[in-house]
Amino acid sequence: MGVTRRGVVYLVGAGPGDPGLMTARSLALIADADAIYYDRLIPPGALDGAREDAELVYVGKQPGVPSVPQAEIGVRLIESAKAGRSVVRLKGGDPFVFGRGGEEGEALHEAGVEFEVVPGVTAGVAATAYAGIPVTHRDDASAVAFITGHEDPEKAETALDWDALAAFPGTLVFYMGVKRLGENAAALIAAGRAAEEPAAAIERGTWAGQRTVTATLGTIAAAVEREGIGAPALIVIGAVAARREALAWLERRPLHGRTVVVTRARAQASGLAKTLRGLGANVVELPAIRIESLIESAEVRDGATAIRDYDLICLTSPNGVRLLFEALAEAGRDARALAGATVAAIGPGTARALAARGIAADVVPERFVAESLVEALTEVDVEGKRVLVARAAEARDVLPDALRERGGAVDVVALYETVREAPDEAAVAAAQDADYVTFTSSSTVTNLTEALGDRFPTRARIVSIGPVTSATAREAGLEVAVEADRHDVDGLLAALLADAATN
Ligand code: SAH
Repeated sequence: MGVTRRGVVYLVGAGPGDPGLMTARSLALIADADAIYYDRLIPPGALDGAREDAELVYVGKQPGVPSVPQAEIGVRLIESAKAGRSVVRLKGGDPFVFGRGGEEGEALHEAGVEFEVVPGVTAGVAATAYAGIPVTHRDDASAVAFITGHEDPEKAETALDWDALAAFPGTLVFYMGVKRLGENAAALIAAGRAAEEPAAAIERGTWAGQRTVTATLGTIAAAVEREGIGAPALIVIGAVAARREALAWLERRPLHGRTVVVTRARAQASGLAKTLRGLGANVVELPAIRIESLIESAEVRDGATAIRDYDLICLTSPNGVRLLFEALAEAGRDARALAGATVAAIGPGTARALAARGIAADVVPERFVAESLVEALTEVDVEGKRVLVARAAEARDVLPDALRERGGAVDVVALYETVREAPDEAAVAAAQDADYVTFTSSSTVTNLTEALGDRFPTRARIVSIGPVTSATAREAGLEVAVEADRHDVDGLLAALLADAATN
């Protein structure tokens, strides 16, 4: 049984924007839902895990744009649940904190529809935490108030009691507070709150590009105006806002504020992209190639069927390892078929992929190029031996040629080919201001430079995984700023970090 019940509406908080702040429960419900009604401010990729046949309905409100009226959202949720479906109502932050989750729950109850509430991380604690502002602090604030700075325009009277808020013994956090910041700050000061009290505005908290401006209660409105801070933003008033000086961890991350382009094929890019994001970078994924499996070919099938006949098996990429094992599975074989052979991996990444499938590679050169593997294999006797080189269709022939020269009977099997992928326009635009473009293979260099032409980001420093990739980049007219010492992704990251520390 799945995690959801049918005929139930889940009022789910999606957190403030960073996908990593979505709860495990929210992800499980999204993965299982029949229908998802979602708002505008949900994290990027929040719906990636939804079922392919799930109905995804945008019901967000955007200032100045006509939207699905609140009452109609309620009606649709009710109908959907009554049709026996599992319905997720996905909202930014927490559904019960300025999220109208209360109203929707009441409407559901009235209609006799079951519902559950899944809290989310609310912007009031998340954007502040990412800005290095603790909403409470033993020395500064024993209480915190969440306040709406922009009330329902249909309400005639303001419900905010400025005298009480001015006297509140703790931190004031205003949601939706940018538009009326000037009036609200003035009202607080008029009611007795000190104009010198520290204040901060946090724009797009926890999203890429989060910005924080600090000032005082008396000057925050002017500062927000000057810096062009816009929604979504939080306003924080209280002594804790000054704690940011010591606690602003976000901006101190090694790649904060840097835009890094990842050009690997999508299937391989996620690890690198995730690590870069974890270091604070704004990552633009601009894959120029895609990996197309060739394991249905007769060549691969024959190789997989005859795998036990080989004395030496050479693998030249983690993709090759994955696809070789897929081909073996299709031929009704598994890791045991490699038991008799010497297994060589071109580098540590390939060796790790083998290890994950229970094979400890016998030969792993330190440098991750074909020449190094040839060198590392000098100790393996190949004279008269049967050798399988399983690799990409377009790979260089350095390895098979060298092994043939030493008397090996070499079969080269292409497990996949890399084909060009048209770059995504939005990603191309986002890449224009990039600080770094990373290249992990010659084929990505060639394909991306050809695909982009004069839209290649000119300001970016080029980071190459190794000498072969660098040479291709230079041929394409690029200046290589950084070349990894270790020719794998970790080596590339280390080189990029070292460069960012000094540039
Ligand atoms: N339910 C949401 C709040 C919705 S009201 C929650 O719990 O967070 C919308 C307001 O929330 C915005 O106007 C802004 O003040 C605040 N907000 C939401 N996401 C934000 C973010 N990432 N950074 C700063 N403020 C945010």
